[in-house]
Amino acid sequence: MPLATPNYSRIQRFRLPRLCVPVIGSDPQNLLDRAESLVRDNPFLEFRLDYLAQPAAALPKVKHFLELHPEAMVIATCRRAVNNGKFRGSAQSQLDILLKAAAIGCQLVDVEIQSARDFKRDQYADLRNRVGVILSFHDFKATKKLDDIFAGMSDLPADFYKVVTTATHLYDNVTMMKFLQAHSGHYEMVGLCMGEQGIISRVLGVRAGSVFTFASAAPGEETAPGQVNISELRDTYRIEMVEASTQVYGVAGDPVAHSLSPVMMNAAFRRETVNAVYLGLHAKSLKDLLACANDIPIRGMSITMPYKEEIVEALSNSDPLTRQIGACNTVVRSQDGKLYGFNTDVAGIVGPLEQRMTTAGKRVLVVGAGGAARAAVFGLKSRNAEVFVANRTPETAQALARQAKAKYVKRADLAKLNFDVIINATPLGMNGNRQAPLEEKELNANYVFDLVYSPAETKLLKMAKAKGLHVIPGLEMFVQQGARQFEIWTGKPAPVAEMAYVVTKALDRLGNGALPETHHEEESPAPHPPAKPAKKAPATKAKRVLVKSGSKKSARR
Ligand code: NAP
Repeated sequence: MPLATPNYSRIQRFRLPRLCVPVIGSDPQNLLDRAESLVRDNPFLEFRLDYLAQPAAALPKVKHFLELHPEAMVIATCRRAVNNGKFRGSAQSQLDILLKAAAIGCQLVDVEIQSARDFKRDQYADLRNRVGVILSFHDFKATKKLDDIFAGMSDLPADFYKVVTTATHLYDNVTMMKFLQAHSGHYEMVGLCMGEQGIISRVLGVRAGSVFTFASAAPGEETAPGQVNISELRDTYRIEMVEASTQVYGVAGDPVAHSLSPVMMNAAFRRETVNAVYLGLHAKSLKDLLACANDIPIRGMSITMPYKEEIVEALSNSDPLTRQIGACNTVVRSQDGKLYGFNTDVAGIVGPLEQRMTTAGKRVLVVGAGGAARAAVFGLKSRNAEVFVANRTPETAQALARQAKAKYVKRADLAKLNFDVIINATPLGMNGNRQAPLEEKELNANYVFDLVYSPAETKLLKMAKAKGLHVIPGLEMFVQQGARQFEIWTGKPAPVAEMAYVVTKALDRLGNGALPETHHEEESPAPHPPAKPAKKAPATKAKRVLVKSGSKKSARR
């Protein structure tokens, strides 16, 4: 079908905020109450009339709302159930409601392409004469054939063309962005991918030419899969400042939905006024991730499970520790486009220990033999510590001990042995898991460092505290490894105190935040609580983040 002559919206894009919040309600009063509570902060609202049993009954109240709020920009939407909305009436009844919405002052209506085709041409033209029309297309399964879809839409004139698809791969976001870039010079486009893997298109879509995007009013009020809530888009991702020159970073893994890295790293970029955004990159395969990283292009990535080992082969080069450990958690794209790898987990483990002691010569037990354990073992060996490894699967621990010239230790022998530090590098104790990797009688050490950071106080740390031992929460590793990443990417000292603060707050919100009191001995600078930072502390000096002051118990043995 031939493309129509480009037609520009009669509603100038500069009049539209970047974020539109869909409003739903159980009845007209509830819908309007919700709108009333949102409009001050978010004047651009979409009234989902189709969520009401009788959409037309809400219109007098919507009229009153518009009279009270001349600043509001309102889209009326009454999507039919056959087109994945909730309105059970015919296309003609839908048209009737949208005309009434226009008559009471709604500036825009959303018409799905299927309904627009059901309307008679002169009916559609009449609607367009009365109100701005967003002609929309939704695909709830995939992102494909976007140009064909658009060719089938753009023969109908519209103020905005909205194409919303579903991301099943990370690369679908790139497809959407290329589509937006190709058409946004000629048409007023709105585009995004739904689904958890499409979240990056909600942030980067506006960078690629989408006039605006959608955000849910609050967690739990999503009207589409993967919709991010408005405070997250504003406060975490700073969507209002994302533009073509904004650098893109992200945490790549499968899954990444619960990662606190976006909260921490975006806060660091904001604090240091770096024009960058940090996203969750939920990749189902490394191939998908690398294709996406190349085409966006992404300047740097934090790599998490399950790609830490697999990505090493795909890098142009990496630092010696990364090669020894065989795992990379930090990727940086150089000027020539090549990807280089680092392992900042080592700094995340060694750093908190060296803030408390000289690690050289210390006896350190590492429990676990996976990626984090390897970082601990090789990192501490490089600092001349005497390292011991124990693991559920003895063969893996034996192999690691051999490679790193550490010592393998049998679980059965642990109760008889003493260490300066015990490090938990297993997932035991994480989130819902209330187990500890060791029993109380096996905790014979000055310090217990649990790499698990959510919850802040694990069962292992509680046991250690009860025994009077010094404890180091995994949050310190999380912040330190992130701080080092920030420094590699930006060349600036990381705002460590700010990073610790936002992660602590995020864990608090998750109900996981109670930090254990930590103890400290030799070479400890004065401890401070994880209070709101007054000013940034450079990474090199910002020691002992998250450390609460003084326990009365002495843990020295
Ligand atoms: P990984 O490569 O999967 O290794 C997991 C290790 O834990 C393996 O040695 C495994 O033993 C052992 N393990 C797993 N389930 C166990 C169980 N039920 N009982 C006993 N041992 C068990 O994982 P990873 O990347 O090393 O990460 C380990 C943990 O470190 C993560 O869960 C996370 O909490 C923490 N971590 C924290 C940070 C941070 O920034 N704070 C960063 C990275 C990791 P087998 O060999 O027998 O399977």
